[in-house]
Amino acid sequence: MNEQYIILYANCIPVKGQSKSAIYDLQRNKIIDIPNDLYDFTHFFDTHNVSELYELGGAENYETVHEYIQFLIEEEVAFLVDKGQQKLFPTLDMIWDYPSQITNMILEISDLTFPVLNKIIEGIISLGCEHLYIRIRMEDPIEVLRTILHLLETAPVYSIVFEVELGVHQKIKNYETLIDNNNRVDTLFLLTNEIKKTNSKKIIFSTPKDFITRKERFFRVNISLFTEAQRHNVYFNRKLYIDKEGTIKNAPETKETFGKITDVSNDELYDIIKSPSFQKYWEINKDLITECKTCEYRYMCIDNRLPVLRENRTYSFETECKIKAVHTIED
Ligand code: SF4
Repeated sequence: MNEQYIILYANCIPVKGQSKSAIYDLQRNKIIDIPNDLYDFTHFFDTHNVSELYELGGAENYETVHEYIQFLIEEEVAFLVDKGQQKLFPTLDMIWDYPSQITNMILEISDLTFPVLNKIIEGIISLGCEHLYIRIRMEDPIEVLRTILHLLETAPVYSIVFEVELGVHQKIKNYETLIDNNNRVDTLFLLTNEIKKTNSKKIIFSTPKDFITRKERFFRVNISLFTEAQRHNVYFNRKLYIDKEGTIKNAPETKETFGKITDVSNDELYDIIKSPSFQKYWEINKDLITECKTCEYRYMCIDNRLPVLRENRTYSFETECKIKAVHTIED
């Protein structure tokens, strides 16, 4: 008789999908694919001790129950406790909030936006935006990148991702030197059709064509994203986009425009962001979207398609999901 109870670590959260499920390990930032039967099995952990779990499965499922329990313990997503000790391990609080109106921003650097970079950075600082995605489409992108890093040196920005089209004669080494020792640069996507090599862990090469479905762009497992995804669309929520013309939008994919960054003060920018039309997509989370609500990746997916409201008051997309089919999740 084993009268102990199996419990999942609070940071290991099972999510059911249509044909399979996943356990999100929010501390180790990884995801483990599991069969739906194992997901259903976890629902008995609160009420049945280990012996009772075997009884529940019956003699014909003895091996499966054994495999499931072993698997969860070996993967370090579950552990055994004595009766009455479960309450010592509370579940995670799923409330998400953030102390700033904008958490992430996409900025396109062009001949028009580069000269007003100082003003844009002022706006970034006043909004408390900590994560930047900067797309550079200019002659001599490496010099532009260098200038941006210099201007951001004292800004309270936590992470920066760059997307740059690599010029034909540019050396990778120059990029490595610039970004490898800069702790705030998270990733540099270098778009090129040539085959290139790098020793840098921060540089990811892609052809412009393949870039659209790269896993690094769409899947992130962490507690902040998981909790935000419970009630928000994590792609559109608290995002600001400034395009190459300086036009203010929620995201590249949204149609509504809100003037030019060169024409608005920081106070006016704040009012724009607070408006319901700017925040139109922020709360359309994946649980409200027909195609996504049965997908096990719905709390880690930063899919950027625009949800469309249908007559039956549900949301769906106008194009098919390409991300799920392309990626095998486990690293
Ligand atoms: S966009 Fe695709 S991968 Fe993402 S949650 Fe929806 S169905 Fe899943």
